[in-house]
Amino acid sequence: RATRGGEEVRAYVPSMGQIFLRRFQMVTQFRQALEEGQLSVHYQPKISLPSKQVLGVEALVRWVHPEFGKLDPDEFVPAVEAAGLIGVLTGFVLDESLKRVRKWMDEGLRISVAVNLSVRNLADVDFPAKVVDSLRRFGVPPGLLTFELTESGVMADPQKALPILQELHELGIVLAVDDFGTGYSSLAYLRRLPVDEVKIDKSFVLGMGTDLGDLAVVRSIVELGHSLGLTVVAEGVEEDIARDQLEAMGCDVAQGYLISRPLAEDRLEAWLQARTAR
Ligand code: C2E
Ligand code: CA
Ligand code: CA
Ligand code: CA
Repeated sequence: RATRGGEEVRAYVPSMGQIFLRRFQMVTQFRQALEEGQLSVHYQPKISLPSKQVLGVEALVRWVHPEFGKLDPDEFVPAVEAAGLIGVLTGFVLDESLKRVRKWMDEGLRISVAVNLSVRNLADVDFPAKVVDSLRRFGVPPGLLTFELTESGVMADPQKALPILQELHELGIVLAVDDFGTGYSSLAYLRRLPVDEVKIDKSFVLGMGTDLGDLAVVRSIVELGHSLGLTVVAEGVEEDIARDQLEAMGCDVAQGYLISRPLAEDRLEAWLQARTAR
């Protein structure tokens, strides 16, 4: 390997190799990792901006690998997806999430859960039936489940994705467009989709305090969303000022570190209790 060339090549080749090896290991170990309990779901609360009530949580998958430590979902979710295993991952997150909602229902609480979908979920014609099966198993009404999908996820193969979205929507599941404002989101695109909610991408929300351009984007998404009758959610709310500005604009729901980081199930329970005890 050392004879292959100069310094640059030697410094570059092993790191690429490491990346591939890491991805390869992630994918080949994924099922076993699930069985061994290395994966879990954290939940991040979403609050109503006018009432400050907790409306729901977003489910975010976590993987603590025995060798690599905490893995970033932005790294392993695409790897798992590319390996054709996203159905297994989504199924796990969905079941964990519905189990959690069921416990809240039993405590008399009405809190919904939002699960992120990947492109390949929307290419699986059996996906809606699998979702119905999960809802039935946990006895959760479809209105307490939201699916978050990105525009690129739908646009990758709209012919396949649209009928599946339609089916999920007809079941009464809430659909949200995630990361809105990035990519080529447009009015025409939003109108074509059977969606109920838009989530303003956190990059704009994070920048709105210092960048007038970001502020203008946020404001126009709130207006656009409302003119289409959609619920508007802001993610990445880290500061009081951002929350106050969003509230003044009429944004409906806020999510971000200001309210809470994503929490493991037991910590979320403590957070909810502390909040309602006030
Ligand atoms: P996302 O769906 O856009 O999720 C929001 C991300 O923003 C999460 O990162 C969350 O922890 C982070 N976040 C929340 N509030 C704040 C804030 O106030 N400031 C900042 N800077 N960040 C905030 P996370 O958990 O690392 O997830 C990254 C991405 O991985 C997600 O982006 C989603 O695309 C994907 N992902 C996570 N869990 C799942 C899953 O179960 N299934 C699928 N298909 N994708 C998932
Ligand atoms: Ca999301
Ligand atoms: Ca997002
Ligand atoms: Ca994202």
